[in-house]
This record gives sequence, C-alpha cells and structure tokens, in this order.
Amino acid sequence: MNAFSFACTACGKCCNSPPAMALPELFRHRDRFIGCLAIGRVPRRRVGERLRVGRHEAVLDEADIAAFDSIANTLLYRTGDTFSIMTQGYDYPSLARCPALADDGRCAIHLNGKPVTCEVVPLDPFVPDALQHLVLAGRNQSASYIGADCIQEGERADAPLLTAEGEIKDANARDALARRRSALEREREVWGRAVFDSLRKDLFASPAALARIPPGGFLTISIVPVLLAVASTSARCRQLCLDYIDSQIALIGRNIEQALLRRRLEDRAVTQELRGFAHAYQRAKALLGTTLPAMEVESSAPSSLSSIEAYLCGAHR
Ligand code: SF4
Ligand code: SF4
Repeated sequence: MNAFSFACTACGKCCNSPPAMALPELFRHRDRFIGCLAIGRVPRRRVGERLRVGRHEAVLDEADIAAFDSIANTLLYRTGDTFSIMTQGYDYPSLARCPALADDGRCAIHLNGKPVTCEVVPLDPFVPDALQHLVLAGRNQSASYIGADCIQEGERADAPLLTAEGEIKDANARDALARRRSALEREREVWGRAVFDSLRKDLFASPAALARIPPGGFLTISIVPVLLAVASTSARCRQLCLDYIDSQIALIGRNIEQALLRRRLEDRAVTQELRGFAHAYQRAKALLGTTLPAMEVESSAPSSLSSIEAYLCGAHR
C-alpha cells in the first residue's frame, strides 16, 4: 500500500535551482553558492483533514498530527502560524540550474560535499515518514520530475522500494532523512532561534511583511542575520564570518557581471536583490570589524563556543 520505488539516474532534471544548505555547507562552498535565508509558511494540520495528491489520499489522525507537531517543535518556528527558516543557495532563476550542475548533467560536488538536501531527494524532511508517499506522488506530477521516470508507483524489479505501508523502506534514504533533520535541528540551535527573535518585530509580527511570503513558496532575504548571530559567539566565529562575507561579495560581483552580459530583462530584479545582499554584507563587515563578540566576553561556557566554531568549519558533517 502506498508503495513507491525510486532510482536516480543522475539526469540532473531536478537540479534546476540551488538547494537548501546548512550553514557549514554554505561556508564550504562559499565560492560556488550565494547564501540566503529562505522563509516559508508551513500549513498547520488538523485531525480529520484530508490530504489528496492525484489518486493518493490520507485522512490525518492523531498520530499524524503528533508527528507533524514533533517536526514543528524541533525543526520549525511557531508564532501563531508555523514557519520554516532555512539557509540555502541563491542564483538567477532564469538560469534554471543549480550552480553545481556540470555541463554533462552531473553534480560537480557529488563526491566533495554534496548538500545533504540532495541526498534526501525526493523526500521532504518536514513531512512525517508515514505521509512521504504523498510527497512522492506530488513530485511525480511536478515539472522538475516529469520525464525523468525516477519515481515509480508500486514495487519494481529495476528500482529499490522507497516507501510502503507508511514507512521509509530504503535504508540510505532513511539515513539521509535523519541526517537532514538532525542538521536542521542543529541549525535551529546554533542560529535559528536567535534569527527568529531578531526578525520577530519586523517580519513575524507584521502582517504586511508576512504577505511578502508567496503561497507555497519562500521569501528570500540576506543571510546577514544568521552571520551576526554566529559571529557574536566568539572572535574566531566572527573571523570565519568575515572571511565568508569577502568570498560572497566577490561571488556576487562575478554573478552580476555575467548577468549583465546575458542582458535578460527578467534578471534585472534579481540583480537588484543581489546588490542588496552585497550592501548588507558590506554593512555587516563594517559592524563586525568594530564590535566585540558579546558572548565571548560574557559566556562562562567556552566548550559550547568551540563547538559552534567546529560546526562552522564543518567538523560535524
Ligand atoms: S530528476 Fe530524478 S533521476 Fe533526475 S537527478 Fe533528479 S532524482 Fe535523479
Ligand atoms: S548540489 Fe548537485 S545534486 Fe544538489 S541540486 Fe546542485 S547539482 Fe543537483
């Protein structure tokens, strides 16, 4: 029941935009991906609600709601509504490709720090395991997957079974999902809650600002609030953030230069947005260059500070 099989042929079809990436992944690939903060609204589910995708449907029971609540309590942010706040790569949508997608259709960083999000594909870490078959049914109808034929209904001889009977059957997929959820939980701890609080007044408590989040989509803003949160924990974290900012300003400059050569009308708004990111980086650089990290002065727990430094350097990958 609700069985789906999945075999990726690495056709690159779904690599049509930069993926969500944890902060250490963005730091690692700072010369390839422009980092941003993506904020989305996550619908709150109710017992008895009917979810339907094509001929697949589920009527949510108390166990489903408990599973959604558990995800929201550990990975998401609640203030009346529920929100996802994630760092991710950003690029010109008109390119319709991830910056790591090589010309031969392969992932250029497959063996060198491919984001965990890409290993989770085609599952969704914010959906309980028992309902992942609906995610797969939805992906099968989406433009990013049509024609790839990588997701097949039922058990297949030529593809591993991914979901059945409300469970993730493939051990690798289960492991990737667990790693992505664990990364999201760690992100929430390291910078998420601080950023959520810093944006509370201007975004989460402002209906006009919240209206900028497109239905089913994300509001993308500068990643600077994240950097300010981690930079405040120690002098080393501040230096890591300053180094990251320098790389990002240079990358934004290169990407804008290429966009100007392409001369596409639809790129103009994105160029403006990237210039905004660059200005935000310059302001953050000036701020970080003159202020002392508050937590380094006040904290009596140096071990937790060093764990954040290790996290930023990717020691926990
Ligand atoms: S569309 Fe399917 S086969 Fe192609 S890269 Fe994505 S997951 Fe793999
Ligand atoms: S990082 Fe690699 S696998 Fe992930 S979207 Fe980009 S090209 Fe595809």
